[in-house]
Amino acid sequence: MNYRKLGRTNIKVSEIAFGCEGFNGKNLEETKNMLEYGFKKGINFIDLYSSNPELRSNLGQAIKELDIRKDFVIEAHIGSTWKNGQYERTRNLEANKIAFEDLLERLQTDYIDVGMIHYMDAEDDYQKVFNGEIIEYVKGLKLEGKIKSIGLSTHNPIVAKKAVQTGLIDVVLFSINPCYDVQPATEDCNDLWNESNYKNIEFKIDKDREEFYELCEKDNIGITVMKCYGGGDLLDKDLSPFKVALTPVQCIHYCLTRPGVSAVMLGVKTNEEIDEALKYETANIEERDYGEILSKLPKNNMDGKCVYCGHCAPCTVGIDIASVNKYTSLVKAQKEIPETVREHYKELKHHAGECIKCGRCEKNCPFHVNIIMKMEEAVEIFGY
Ligand code: SF4
Ligand code: SF4
Repeated sequence: MNYRKLGRTNIKVSEIAFGCEGFNGKNLEETKNMLEYGFKKGINFIDLYSSNPELRSNLGQAIKELDIRKDFVIEAHIGSTWKNGQYERTRNLEANKIAFEDLLERLQTDYIDVGMIHYMDAEDDYQKVFNGEIIEYVKGLKLEGKIKSIGLSTHNPIVAKKAVQTGLIDVVLFSINPCYDVQPATEDCNDLWNESNYKNIEFKIDKDREEFYELCEKDNIGITVMKCYGGGDLLDKDLSPFKVALTPVQCIHYCLTRPGVSAVMLGVKTNEEIDEALKYETANIEERDYGEILSKLPKNNMDGKCVYCGHCAPCTVGIDIASVNKYTSLVKAQKEIPETVREHYKELKHHAGECIKCGRCEKNCPFHVNIIMKMEEAVEIFGY
């Protein structure tokens, strides 16, 4: 299992992680069995958006019996509450406080690693939360050590950017897959899976989404990903808005190659589904490659633009071309070299300056990127 730093927190998380929906309806033994299976395979991270008391209690007891709390990272939601036997999202402060204390009790812990402000897609909700008592409450929880970092879950890149720009947010749970990435920002997440919004749409990553990912990479904010398979639709040719099927490995690779992404949260329901997802860890470049499929979409509008797919590999001298392009693009967008990007570039084993201009990579790039020119640009920017 590969582990990634969760943005600017000091937490290291498995790049493949649990969503909590797969634990829904499971009893304690079943919860413990699946948690133990995933944990032994290296999964050390979960997103817990559910407010279902039974699910939370079973998970807490399973974590205790397996004795893994100190090695297991929990991202859990503030504002996801349980009322009259049902989930309810609320910004009522008292209800949030009661639900959070209940969460700690059921999980049998005195802290949550990422206290995630739950599901904020609307601008007026953003204003209400960030200019009101909820953000003060969340900041207080961090000061008390009851949460170690502050997160926000959203489907809207404009709200996400605004929240990150406050400087208060360490982690964003965001919906990412190649289909959602072509959609403009919306306050109604139903738009993302409304088939009529995909009629005649071209494959071109939305500007707000791209800017949000780049902002996170630059400011060292960790993105955790929901809806990586688009609810399963992307795996099925007939259901996919693009009418091509991607494999789970390709979907995961797409998400993990967006700037800023730390982990993909998967709602696996069985040990077999865990194994299926973990095939990503041993998959080769060809199996991970999504570039070839996306470049053949009838309305591909990414020609000449790097999507960080890695299809151009291997480079003759070992340059990680996708990463060099990613860091160069970040600097160009920001017109400065942020310290984090400078460090990430430095950590690469081979740098753009080593390019011998053999042209091998350009023959492989399905998006016809002028890679040699990109390497020259990188040298101009980073100096080597
Ligand atoms: S240069 Fe082309 S093949 Fe290489 S990562 Fe970018 S888009 Fe993919
Ligand atoms: S042209 Fe440069 S970047 Fe491309 S394969 Fe050759 S050495 Fe690598």
